Amino acid sequence: MEMVRPAARRSVGETQPPLPSIYSLTLDELKEWLVAQGEKPFRATQIYEWLYQNRVTDFADMTNLPKRLREQLASSFSITTLKTVVKQTSKDGTIKFLFELHDGYSIETVLMRHNYGNSVCVTTQVGCRIGCTFCASTLGGLKRHLEAGEIVAQVVQVQKALDDTNERVSSIVVMGIGEPFDNYDALIKFLRIVNHPKGLNIGARHITVSTSGIIPKIYQFADEGMQVNFAISLHAPTNELRTKLMPINKAYPLPKLMEAVRYYIEKTGRRVTFEYGLFGGVNDQLEHAEQLAELIKGLKCHVNLIPVNYVPERNYVRTPRSQIFAFERALKKHGINVTIRREHGHDIDAACGQLRAKERKEETR
Ligand code: SAH
Repeated sequence: MEMVRPAARRSVGETQPPLPSIYSLTLDELKEWLVAQGEKPFRATQIYEWLYQNRVTDFADMTNLPKRLREQLASSFSITTLKTVVKQTSKDGTIKFLFELHDGYSIETVLMRHNYGNSVCVTTQVGCRIGCTFCASTLGGLKRHLEAGEIVAQVVQVQKALDDTNERVSSIVVMGIGEPFDNYDALIKFLRIVNHPKGLNIGARHITVSTSGIIPKIYQFADEGMQVNFAISLHAPTNELRTKLMPINKAYPLPKLMEAVRYYIEKTGRRVTFEYGLFGGVNDQLEHAEQLAELIKGLKCHVNLIPVNYVPERNYVRTPRSQIFAFERALKKHGINVTIRREHGHDIDAACGQLRAKERKEETR
C-alpha cells in the first residue's frame, strides 16, 4: 500500500466548507455565471478545456484568461476538493483510491483495467441508506450526498494518475458507494459534465448507471433522453425473495419495478442490464434461473451474474463455479443474453459490494 499523503487532522463533518468546486458546474451554468460577472460566455469553453483537457489545478495557470477573471474565479470557486489518502494496487492492475473530502469523510474510487480500456467506478454518496443485506457500503448508513463536483473530481483524479503513462479513462460505471438515484440531481449533472465534448468527453455509451430500483427515478431517468447504459440490481426473481435480500423491495416491489423497466426500454429503445448476484443456497438454484427467465421473458435485456463477494459482516457464501455455469446455461436455454462478471481487485477489497465509506475515526479522538 502506498501512502500518498498523511491525512489532515480534523474532525469528521466539522470543518468549514471550502468554496464550491467549479467541477460542479455544467458548461451552461458556467456560461451563466460568466455572463453575470459581465464576462463573455465563450470563456466557459476555455475554462472547461483547462479543467478537463489540461487538467490544471490552479486558476492562475489558465493563461489565456484575463488576470482579473482568473482572480475572480479563484475567489469564487475551488477546483478539486479531494485529497488522495491511499492508492492501493491489486495484482490484476486494479487501483483503489481512498479520497478524503473537505469535511474529513472518505470515499473509495476504483480504476479497473479491461482489454477494451480503463474503467472508473465512482462513488455517489458517503455511505448508503438502501440497506441491501449483502453489501458493505450500507453498513454505516448514509452520512451525506456527494456534490456533482465531488463525483466529477474522482474521474479527474484517476485520469491525472493515468496521465503519467499517457492512458485515458475510457469508461465510467456508477457502481461505487451509494445509490445514484438517491442523489439524483448531482448524478445527472455529473453525467452531463463528464459526457460533454469540452468536458472529459466520455461517450454516453461508455457510461453505466446502476440502481437498486428507486422506481420514480427510473421513470424520470427514462425521460432525460440520455444514451447511457442502465443497470438494475435485481438479485431475485420473486417479490418475496427480493424483499429478503433488498429491503427497498418493500417500498418498490418487484412487479412495479418491472413495469418501470418496461417503460424505460420503450421510452429509450435501449437494452437494460439486470445485475444478479449469486448468493450460495439463497437465489442460485436452477428453479431461480427458471423463474428469472420467466420474469424477464421478451424484454430487451442482458443478465450479468455476479458471484457474491465476501463481506465479513455478512453471512453469504459463494456459489460453486459449476453451479454458476449451470445457472448461466439455464438462462441461455431461454435465449437470454448472459455474462458472468469478471472480478477485479479482489485482493484489495475493491470488488462489487466491498467498498465502504471510512470515517477515519482515529483522527477525531
Ligand atoms: N446502489 C447501486 C450501485 C451499486 S452497484 C445499486 O444497487 O445498483 C454495485 C453492484 O454490486 C450492485 O448490483 C450491488 O447489488 C452489487 N453488490 C453489492 N454487494 C455485493 C456483494 N457482496 N457481492 C456481489 N455483489 C454485490
